[in-house]
Amino acid sequence: MPTLLLTHPDCLKHDNGGYHPERPERLRAIEEALASETFASLKREEAPVVEIAAIERLHPSRYVEAIHRALPVKGNVWLDPDTAMSPGSWNAALRAAGAAVYAVDQVMSGGVKNAFCAVRPPGHHAEPARAMGFCLFNNVAIAALHARQKHGAERVAVVDFDVHHGNGTQSAFWSDKDLFYGSTHQMPLFPGTGAAYETGVGNVFNAPLHAGDGSKRFRDAYGARILPALDAFRPDLLLISAGFDAHRDDPLAHIELDETDFAWITERLVEAAEKHAGGRIVATLEGGYNLEALSRSAAAHVGVLMRASS
Ligand SMILES: [Zn+2]
Repeated sequence: MPTLLLTHPDCLKHDNGGYHPERPERLRAIEEALASETFASLKREEAPVVEIAAIERLHPSRYVEAIHRALPVKGNVWLDPDTAMSPGSWNAALRAAGAAVYAVDQVMSGGVKNAFCAVRPPGHHAEPARAMGFCLFNNVAIAALHARQKHGAERVAVVDFDVHHGNGTQSAFWSDKDLFYGSTHQMPLFPGTGAAYETGVGNVFNAPLHAGDGSKRFRDAYGARILPALDAFRPDLLLISAGFDAHRDDPLAHIELDETDFAWITERLVEAAEKHAGGRIVATLEGGYNLEALSRSAAAHVGVLMRASS
């Protein structure tokens, strides 16, 4: 079975303006890296637009309407000091969530084994009723709720190796023991959440790292805390918030990883998915702001997913 790669040109039309790090060139860099012969066997499809009902399993309809109403005719509107919308943002956001939901459909129905969604805006900071941190809708949390509602998945896990804590996903999953959230992230750093004592109903596993921590501490955090908890949770489906901003060349943080670390964690997550979830993985892009580092890291991540599929 192939690995599915989803993206859409609409995701290039979300523009945060000026010199914002979350820019369309990020997707172009990934697209270029995945254009090489190594990735020829990827099954490539355009991300569909998500149904509003799928978004509204997570986000209240008044929030979804407020985001739609905020859409500018030209220029930018700012939802918070980090998070902007441009005329193309609504369609980009519907494609980004749509990719994750469609990937769940494909993986759960057995059409593909795993999938990577190269989309923007990212999602893991979006709380049910609050846009923040470059995120409008929480793509991965929407996908998790869709897997339960439409495919009967009983336990869905999100593992988030973006260098920032996914406060939105944690908030969405906080009181639901059948949803798992595990995250490594730099602390202190935006958004400020993600302490080890934030545990939800025993379903949230945060492993904060410090600036300067490198590969070994990153891998130890997974080995000691997140992977054993994931194993005990036994997910039917594993979702990955795949942010690559813990790379040493990334301008937004200082965890000092390189692409081999992203390959390593992807291999461990493939093993967990093989053991419990029939190998079913949907990964969706979150951060990663140095274009070179982002493209190499995403390529390493997708390469591991492809080897798991072949
Ligand atoms: Zn990030």
